[in-house]
Amino acid sequence: MEFLKPRVTDKKRGCDDRYVAERRRMVAEIVAMSHETGGYAPRPISEKVLSVMAAVPRHRFIPEGMVYCAYYNRPLPIGHGQTISQPYIVALMTELLALDEQDNVLEIGTGSGYQTAVLAEMADRVYSMEIIAPLAAHAADLLGELGYANIRVKTGDGSAGWPEYAPFDGIIVTAAPNRIPQPLIDQLKPGGRMVLPVGSWSYIQQLILITKTMDGTVQQENILPVSFVPLTGGR
Ligand code: SAM
Repeated sequence: MEFLKPRVTDKKRGCDDRYVAERRRMVAEIVAMSHETGGYAPRPISEKVLSVMAAVPRHRFIPEGMVYCAYYNRPLPIGHGQTISQPYIVALMTELLALDEQDNVLEIGTGSGYQTAVLAEMADRVYSMEIIAPLAAHAADLLGELGYANIRVKTGDGSAGWPEYAPFDGIIVTAAPNRIPQPLIDQLKPGGRMVLPVGSWSYIQQLILITKTMDGTVQQENILPVSFVPLTGGR
């Protein structure tokens, strides 16, 4: 499979659209929120992540009737009982992965494809799994239309990971399992990072950062209380 490097300035993505000012406002809210949550997650969001958030056209990932609130700093429904995550959480999770442009990333929970696009701007390759087939198909079509050539989307239960393309430098899970799926830990490269919400879905979950050291030791850090849809599937 041949990948092409994406560019945030690519006009095909709509970066120069009429929503530029709204995206800037959204980025300002992300920065403000990262100060407010500093007690939990004392990491500023980097300029690199903020510039990607200021460029990716979130309005393209939102159902038509809701485009007017595409740049509010809040999650929104995308159909099939699922949501597109809050922009601050997208930025924070991306930041926690500390991606390099050579990295390959696994995402579990493609949803609308918005977080996938953000990751594709930061890394070399993104492999994204979505358990709801129509969401996977819609996201794959849209990401292709927007010109992303470094993303592969597949329908399936992501709790088993995607062994064919492992190991991954970064893994992001955007739905909450009760406990961390072991196959995802196994598919993380030494030196790699995984960010995911963990906990029962009827309660607030904990956003967790997993770091695998070069000798294979797994370290865990609690970042922030969050609320995600549950990771479903058979495992
Ligand atoms: N990151 C997405 C976005 O930007 O739109 C939002 C993801 S939404 C909060 C969580 C997604 O995870 C849903 O689309 C849901 O169908 C999916 N999901 C839940 N369990 C899954 C599983 N076992 N494997 C893959 N996807 C799963």
